[in-house]
Amino acid sequence: MADERQQIPGTDQVLNAPEIALATARLGRQLVKQAVHAAQDKARAGEISPDEVIDEAATMLPKTASSLHRVLNATGVLLHTNLGRAPLSDAAVQALAEAAGTTDVELDLQTGQRGPRGAAAVQALLNAVPTAEAAHVVNNGAAALALVATVFARGKEIVLARGEMVEIGDHFRIPELLEATGARLREVGTTNRVHRQDYEAVLGPDTGFILKVHPSNFVVQGFTSSVPVVELAHLGVPVVADIGSGLLQPHPVLPDEPDATTALRQGASLVTASGDKLLGGPQAGLLLGKADLVHQLRRHPLARALRVDKLTLAALEATITGPPTPTEQALRQDPKTLLARAERLAQELSGAGIAARAQRTEATVGGGGAPGKVLPSAAVTLPERYARPLRTGRPPVLPRVEQGRCVLDLAALPADSDEVLRRAVLEARKCMS
Ligand SMILES: *Cc1c(COP(=O)(O)O)cnc(C)c1O
Repeated sequence: MADERQQIPGTDQVLNAPEIALATARLGRQLVKQAVHAAQDKARAGEISPDEVIDEAATMLPKTASSLHRVLNATGVLLHTNLGRAPLSDAAVQALAEAAGTTDVELDLQTGQRGPRGAAAVQALLNAVPTAEAAHVVNNGAAALALVATVFARGKEIVLARGEMVEIGDHFRIPELLEATGARLREVGTTNRVHRQDYEAVLGPDTGFILKVHPSNFVVQGFTSSVPVVELAHLGVPVVADIGSGLLQPHPVLPDEPDATTALRQGASLVTASGDKLLGGPQAGLLLGKADLVHQLRRHPLARALRVDKLTLAALEATITGPPTPTEQALRQDPKTLLARAERLAQELSGAGIAARAQRTEATVGGGGAPGKVLPSAAVTLPERYARPLRTGRPPVLPRVEQGRCVLDLAALPADSDEVLRRAVLEARKCMS
């Protein structure tokens, strides 16, 4: 044993092996060295033989120089905030890779002069939302709200229904965000009900605007009422509609979800939304509406602090103009096809001696969109102890655990991930004795 250990190749020797040297050019020396040391440690521990060190180091290399991993989302939640919400379409990924170099993001190549930043993404938005006169893009939905509140209600009042005072996640609350800009909140109605007269009663010279917030992550049922944008729009003050999820047009699968085109047609002066929810694009805050208001937003000093980078602009444009996004495809998955996929996977895994079963499930949109909406789906279920090795495997697979079973819901996974999933389960089994 001691003799064998002396044969473990030294760090420099492994680093000079051709495939490892190539990886150094791609990943940098530090990351590659970590993999080499880990492989050497395995050899020292007797887990591999000394002549396997180079191969082992090669397999332990990270895919990229970032420690973020691509994760298979088997949770059945289409837009999972902890998983980065919407997965980008291939079109968006290619667009942002192209934009990652030096680009004409703020230059008109015809004239050689400075051009408006992000004009193409804005134009794509305007084409998709015919009721918008102008559009502007900021860092995320919260930034869009902060900018609107700063520009139109600093030192004034934002009128907001109590039932729309939403916590969006991780302890962040829209009312607190608005107040942080120096605007005052004027709450109207009760938790479950608000009427047009409640709004009318508080409007006055101090009013900045009425804010209509989509309760995007909860549902209040029973004795409820709220005032639609179309009625608020007649009260003589601007109405800002925070629709949250970023649908640009009505969606046939999600009839109750607000969209930008409709909200503006119904009389909202401005709409705010996120780019990485149902729109299926990069994190971004969308601002659409009246030209003079959007112009004021764009020219405010704070706009510079909230501005998006070229990668976001490229990905956003490609998301809007390109083919259906993964999110859109997931929304339109046929439950029968999902069940057939689950059955085939379960059969293959059972054939390999794993206690796998196929079952119908219910998936959700998640991520602040279409709360309460059930999407019929299907899953492969495994014994619960598979959850951890799946999560820590390569690629990591995030299941949900339900009633003592590890549930791999296929709703958010395209069909071409089934083979990766099958292999991940087989790998996970190896971790169990
Ligand atoms: C998600 C959401 C926000 C916040 O948007 P981010 O892009 O996460 O900053 C604001 N309002 C509503 C209604 C939302 O659903």
